[in-house]
Amino acid sequence: MSDFVSLGLSDWLVKQCQQLGINKPTPVQDNCVPAILEGRDCMGCAKTGSGKTAAFVLPVLQKLSEDPYGIFCLVLTPTRELAYQIAEQFRVLGKPLGLRDCIIVGGMDMVTQALELSNQPHVVVATPGRLADHIRSSNTFSMSKIKFLILDEADRLLEQGCTDFTKDLEVILGILPAKRQTLLFSATLTDTLQELKSIAMNKPFFWESKSETRTVEELDQRYILTPEKVKDAYLIHLIQKFTDEHDDWSIIIFTNTCKSCQILTMMLREFNFPTISLHSMMKQKQRFANLAKFKASVYKILIATDVAARGLDIPTVQVVINHNTPGLPKIYIHRVGRTARAGRNGVSITLVTQYDIHLVHSIEEQIQTKLKEYPVEEKEVLSILTQVNVTRRECEIKLESTDFDEKKEINKRKQLILEGKDPDLEARRKAELEKIKSQKKKFKQKIQEHIQRQKRGQLKKKLMKKKQMKNKKAAQEKP
Ligand code: AMP
Repeated sequence: MSDFVSLGLSDWLVKQCQQLGINKPTPVQDNCVPAILEGRDCMGCAKTGSGKTAAFVLPVLQKLSEDPYGIFCLVLTPTRELAYQIAEQFRVLGKPLGLRDCIIVGGMDMVTQALELSNQPHVVVATPGRLADHIRSSNTFSMSKIKFLILDEADRLLEQGCTDFTKDLEVILGILPAKRQTLLFSATLTDTLQELKSIAMNKPFFWESKSETRTVEELDQRYILTPEKVKDAYLIHLIQKFTDEHDDWSIIIFTNTCKSCQILTMMLREFNFPTISLHSMMKQKQRFANLAKFKASVYKILIATDVAARGLDIPTVQVVINHNTPGLPKIYIHRVGRTARAGRNGVSITLVTQYDIHLVHSIEEQIQTKLKEYPVEEKEVLSILTQVNVTRRECEIKLESTDFDEKKEINKRKQLILEGKDPDLEARRKAELEKIKSQKKKFKQKIQEHIQRQKRGQLKKKLMKKKQMKNKKAAQEKP
C-alpha cells in the first residue's frame, strides 16, 4: 500500500491528514484518489466505514487549492445528517485553505441558505429536495462553473424508493455544466448504478472493494431467534448485559417505523437507560441536536429508523441491534456498518422471528457470511418478560394520548402535496391496491388449502390401500 504523497497529494494536505490520524490510504483512497486527480470520472463501491468520504474530499481539496473559486464542488447525499458529516470532513481537511462550505438541507431556514449560496462558497453539500427548491425559486447563485459533482450513497439517490429523488436530480443536473468530473460513491451497488456506469458518465474509472463480503471482518454478526412477543424482553436483557459488562459503550438500535422508535425510546427510559431517538417525523433541529448528544456520549443509546442507517460515522458505537430484521440485505449492510468502523471491533445482533428466517437467508447470501446465534440465558429473559410487556403497553397508551398518529398523517399529506400529488386520490389508490392485494392473498390461501386437501386425500388413499394389502396378506397367511 502506498502513502498519500505517492498518490499525488500536496504536502499541506498530507500534513492535515496526519493531524487527524489519517496516515495510510485505505484501499478505496489508494485506488480512487489518483484517478480523480487525473481528471477522470469515478465510481467507487466500498464497504461502509472504509474511508469513502476522504477518497473524494482529498482530491477535490487538492484541485481546489490549485484554482480556488466558488462554487467549485457540489456534493449530493440522501440524508441531512450525512450532509453535515461530509461538510465536516471538508471543513477539517480544508482548514488551511480557508475553505468556505455551505450545507443545503430541508428543515432549515431557506433565506439564510439562499444568502450563503449567493456568497459563492467553495463547496456545497446538499440533499436533492432542498437544493432543487432553491434552484426553482431563486436565481441568486450559479452552479454553471462547478468542476465536481459528487453523488454520495449514489444508489439511494438514483433508485426510485420511498423518497424518489429523480425529479429533483433532473432540476439540479439541468443547471450544471456538461464539462465536469462526476464521482459516484456507494457501499451497495445496485442495478441502477450499473446502468449509470454505461450511460451517464465519461468512461469512468471503476473501483470495487475486492473483498467478497460486504461487511467488515471485525464485525461479529449475530442473531437471536425470538417470538415477536418476547422481542422487547430480549432487547432489555441485551442492553442490561452490555451496561453490566462494559464501561465505555454505546448502542444503536434500528426499528422499522417512527412509532416503534418512539415507543422503544419511552420504554428504555422507563428502565433508566440513557436513550435518545432519531426518526424522520422529528423536527430537523431536534434530529441534529439528538445526534450531537449521542455523538458526545451524553446518551449511550440511539434508537433510530433507517434515516440513520447510511454512512453515519460514530466511532464509539460498539453494538448495533436490529429490533426488526431488515427486509432488504442492503439495508442490513448499511445498518450494521454503523459499528466496526475504520478497523475497530463491533457486534451486530438481529432479532429474528420465525417469519423472518427467509430474510436472514437472503442477507447471508449477500454478505457471504453466516450469522451466528447469540447465546442468551433464556431464564433471565423470561423473568423480565411480564414487566417489559406491561411497560410497553403503558408507553403505547401514553403515546396514543398524544397526537402522534395524527401528526404522521398530516406530514404524509404535506409530503404528497409537495410532490404535486392529490392526497385524497392517493389514499383511494392505496386502498384500491390494498384491496387487490388482500384478494390475491385470499386466492393464494384458497389454492394452498385446496392443494393441502388434495395431498391429504391422496395420503389417506395410500394408507387405506396399504392397510388393505396388509389385511389381505395376513388373511392369505392364516392356515
Ligand atoms: P467513511 O467511510 O468515509 O465514513 O470514513 C470512516 C472513518 O474513517 C472516518 O472517521 C474517517 O475519518 C476515517 N478515515 C478515513 N480515511 C482514513 C485513513 N486513511 N486512515 C484512518 N482512518 C481513516
